[in-house]
Amino acid sequence: MDLGLKGRVAIVAAASKGLGRAVAAELGREGAQVAICARNAADLERAASSIRQATGNAIFWQALDVTDAARVQQFVDAVEKRFGRVDICVTNAGGPPAKTFLEISLEEWRAAVELTLLSAVYFAREVLPRMRKNKWGRLVTITSMAVKQPIDGLLLSNSIRAAVTGLARTLANEFGKDGITVNNVCPGYTLTERLDELAEKQARDASVPREKIFERWTSQIPLGRLARPEEFAALVTFLVSERASYINGTSITVDGGWVRSLL
Ligand code: NAD
Repeated sequence: MDLGLKGRVAIVAAASKGLGRAVAAELGREGAQVAICARNAADLERAASSIRQATGNAIFWQALDVTDAARVQQFVDAVEKRFGRVDICVTNAGGPPAKTFLEISLEEWRAAVELTLLSAVYFAREVLPRMRKNKWGRLVTITSMAVKQPIDGLLLSNSIRAAVTGLARTLANEFGKDGITVNNVCPGYTLTERLDELAEKQARDASVPREKIFERWTSQIPLGRLARPEEFAALVTFLVSERASYINGTSITVDGGWVRSLL
């Protein structure tokens, strides 16, 4: 199937590692012109050069914090200047701290709203007017399977990602007539540094070896294994493609069947 991504200009946020990096690599393989950002320049350079080697395509990158609205604006401006336009944007950020209600300070609530919700707003504010001018666009928000079934111990994620899902669903209504689709993709347990950090914390809290935590997660998944980042990236790549032209306003899980709901 030709996804029609050749030459499309794609921004992937928080993409020096993990899910963002896997999405950027897959889009590069499909011939898109890819721009990535994250906080650490050395990590970004490493990611960009390995994607360039694998795909033969140049990657544009800038080091920035996605909670800084002015830097997000400068980045999107720079991408447009470099590639001529912006067709695709995948919003993403690091995960908020894994804590229960009484452990979370008000500062941590505010920081998590900045990181998880407002970072997506900052990108959407920059890219949607540009896509509207071209009468074509794809916006994908990365959230979590927690938007369909809350995960114990991840209160900030469970709460604030629901707001991102509401944002994406409403943007899909507002921008559909401009040829722009907006969808939300919800990863399940996927082998990245974030998952290692969660396993370390849960293992410490429960005084068990981290392998026990991985075993517990695996036992909850009908497919009986954790995901590889590439398996998540495959769905995002399809959703931002020409072929997904009638998929709009959805939230799709890539969780091996972990969420037990019917829809
Ligand atoms: P990760 O920690 O492996 O990678 C996160 C990436 O985001 C890195 O490149 C990091 O440098 C960048 N980043 C973090 N904070 C940033 C900031 N403020 N500004 C710019 N860049 C920033 O995480 P991941 O596993 O790839 O997960 C991506 C998102 O998906 C996270 O929000 C995570 O909580 C969520 N998620 C992950 C899983 C999973 O199992 N991996 C499951 C559900 C949800």
